[in-house]
Amino acid sequence: MLKNLLNLLFPKLCNGCNSLLLKNEAIICSTCRHGLPLTQHHNLKDNYTTNKFYGIIPVEFSASMLFFHKEGIVQNLIHNLKYRKHQEIGTFLGNWYAEDLKEIAKKHDFSEIIPVPLHKKRLQERGYNQVTTFCEALSKNLHINYNDKLLFRNLYSKTQTKKNKEQRNEVAKSLFDVTFTEADYDKHFLLVDDVITSGATLEACAKALLKIPNAKISIVTIAYTDS
Ligand SMILES: [Zn+2]
Repeated sequence: MLKNLLNLLFPKLCNGCNSLLLKNEAIICSTCRHGLPLTQHHNLKDNYTTNKFYGIIPVEFSASMLFFHKEGIVQNLIHNLKYRKHQEIGTFLGNWYAEDLKEIAKKHDFSEIIPVPLHKKRLQERGYNQVTTFCEALSKNLHINYNDKLLFRNLYSKTQTKKNKEQRNEVAKSLFDVTFTEADYDKHFLLVDDVITSGATLEACAKALLKIPNAKISIVTIAYTDS
């Protein structure tokens, strides 16, 4: 009764299309659930995500879960996850993608899941890193340790999109670093971000992780876009 009343006063909306959720629906409506633009990247050795790093950094495995389209379901999901504190979206997508990655995880034997870090100041403003719940869901379902202490961000920089390529590269070089001990040698790191666009951020993160002796890198993102 109270629950019905609360639903009436504060109706739960779909995080993908804003329509009213039915009683048996959570996070997103059935239409959005069936309409999620899954990339199936994990089934392809060479895919759009892998190609971003080809000849730039050695990547063992890389894949994005969803295609990101302007004004599409995925853009709404990412927006709600990132700016509206709907961290349950990360859990939902992480639980889903972990199923798809089960065989891959067995094959590659990932040592640790590493989130692309936010700078402390951004983290304080937002209150959370938007990839945390996605990472935690992968970690729990695939039994891979989650480590958000190894990789950190140095400088506070505004969004990189307005800078030109050269400036971006300069920023990227100094943006990330690692603190490691001998215990971190010989590991296979699964680096995770929300959206891959140019791949510059992930490239910079991977380069920092590759300072660790015998490190191997794999990459997973929630979404993929070219622009
Ligand atoms: Zn929907």
